[in-house]
Amino acid sequence: MECNKDRIRLDIETIAGFNSTPGQGTTRFTYSDEDIKAREYLIKEMERTGLKVSVDQMGNIRARLDGKDDSLPIVMTGSHIDTVTNGGNFDGVAGVSAGLEALRTLVENKFQPECSIELIVFVEEEGPNFKFPLAGSRILTGKFPVSSLKKHFNSKGVSMHDAAVARGFDPSDMRRHLFKEGEIKAMIELHIEQSVVLDELSVPVGVVGAVAGRKWIEIEIAGKSNHAGATPMNFRNDPMDGAAKVIASLRDIVTESANPTTVGTVGKIDCFPNEPNVIPEKVCFTVDVRDIEKDGIEIVERELIELTEETCEKHGLEFSSRVLSETEPIIFSKKVVESIIESAKDKCIEYIEMNSGALHDSCLMAEITDVGMIFVPSVGGRSHCAEETTDYEDIKKGADVLLGALIKISEA
Ligand SMILES: [Zn+2]
Repeated sequence: MECNKDRIRLDIETIAGFNSTPGQGTTRFTYSDEDIKAREYLIKEMERTGLKVSVDQMGNIRARLDGKDDSLPIVMTGSHIDTVTNGGNFDGVAGVSAGLEALRTLVENKFQPECSIELIVFVEEEGPNFKFPLAGSRILTGKFPVSSLKKHFNSKGVSMHDAAVARGFDPSDMRRHLFKEGEIKAMIELHIEQSVVLDELSVPVGVVGAVAGRKWIEIEIAGKSNHAGATPMNFRNDPMDGAAKVIASLRDIVTESANPTTVGTVGKIDCFPNEPNVIPEKVCFTVDVRDIEKDGIEIVERELIELTEETCEKHGLEFSSRVLSETEPIIFSKKVVESIIESAKDKCIEYIEMNSGALHDSCLMAEITDVGMIFVPSVGGRSHCAEETTDYEDIKKGADVLLGALIKISEA
């Protein structure tokens, strides 16, 4: 059994046509006209394939291929079709199309899996519209209450709840649609990598074993503001001097003390008063540390704070630090990862094992079931922009691996 590249291309190109910013990347917000048209296309395609389609009261679409024993927990695949502002045509849609194509291929070959296999299209994964990323998976997994739809508003001040109602959904009746305990045996999401690794190595498939956890630490270093010309160097308490030393050491701390998978970034820095002729009063910067192992994040945090303390003591500065946000690393199911690897081997499709630095709907699903992910290359590592591209041949290979893995898990 093999997936059909042309059908994948047709799905992705058709959905790409539903775009509110043609010529400037793709923008398709949840509940927009473009989103509704894309949903109509998909539902028609699912029905044409012979799948049982249901849409819940916030718009998540589920399409089911019945297994031999319909009472068994189901195997799920899928992703999302909403985009960021001026995004690309492959983020999310590649996974939806690959899942749909896997089911089309099963139906075409008259293959009935042991348990039912479902394709899911999650609502509002990106979250630029209602500032509620992963809304569909968060609510379906019970991580957030349905009432949270009333607390997230778009730029026009319309809540996600009201926007859903305007499209004919009834979120007040959403509770009965939430995933039930034991309902889902496993979930596999195919997604574009959104980075350079697979493209650089020219490997079509990445088998994702873990998703990195992340900590944002804010460090504020305070000194004494003074005249940049009149203050001799040995009479300064310059917080920029201290901040620069700490920031410049981050790379060494990460590469020498933490794990090979740890990464650290200073991406935001604020200087007060931020004038060319004034020794600053304070400098504030954030450190983003990620790793699939929690200890990597902890080591960087500890060493960074120790170094900041030493540096501030030496230069007569004061400092404070606080954690702005934190997410735990997610380790995917060994069983699912193994099934994906076996499927790639069966089909002689080259793959590497890798980790994800970004969160996806599957990460939420990992709290309630066994999860795995398949990455396909992003050309040049570009994503969330008009240039976002993945070779259709690579998506087809990823879909073939997905197809094999879905069958293996349904039989396990
Ligand atoms: Zn995505």
